[in-house]
Amino acid sequence: MNSLIDTLESTIRTIPDYPKPGIAFRDITTLLGDARAFRRAVDELVQPWAGSKIDKVAGIEARGFILGGAVAHQLSAGFVPIRKKGKLPYDTVRIAYSLEYGLDEMEIHKDAIRPQEKVILVDDLIATGGSADAAIRLMQQIGADVIAAVFVIDLPDLGGAAKLEKLGVPVRTLVSFA
Ligand code: AMP
Repeated sequence: MNSLIDTLESTIRTIPDYPKPGIAFRDITTLLGDARAFRRAVDELVQPWAGSKIDKVAGIEARGFILGGAVAHQLSAGFVPIRKKGKLPYDTVRIAYSLEYGLDEMEIHKDAIRPQEKVILVDDLIATGGSADAAIRLMQQIGADVIAAVFVIDLPDLGGAAKLEKLGVPVRTLVSFA
């Protein structure tokens, strides 16, 4: 096994039956708390775009904020929060989406991304792809050019990465849990 995957996999904690029976929750707080693993994850996520001009990095609330902020800093890009409804103070665009374990709505400030700006979407994990798909469509509604979506963890059995690839958005993930 390669050492990057080893490092990352060994720092992700799995909580069985959380938040409901049958879900194996992949907890990245243990990865974030490990300085070496956190740095390696961020370095690897941005690697294909090192030196490229990326205008904005968008993170999905809440764990996407932590990784997205670090990714934005690394790429010298701005950061844009995509939040659950009712949390953003200015005018927003809103979309409904489904999670592996529930339904929700997300919002973005309508002026957060200018037309044609190049954006990378960041979250901790892709499962069904429902939230990332909604986030991409939300950003496209305000004119963003979403050039990639990156995640530390892929749950390939749920088909999310394949779903985004079909939309024409390249997906980068670091660790898979089948
Ligand atoms: P989805 O929209 O189905 O791709 O779900 C992805 C979102 O739900 C991400 O924001 C994840 O943080 C969260 N999520 C879904 N499934 C899990 C899981 N098994 N462990 C941890 N987080 C999850």
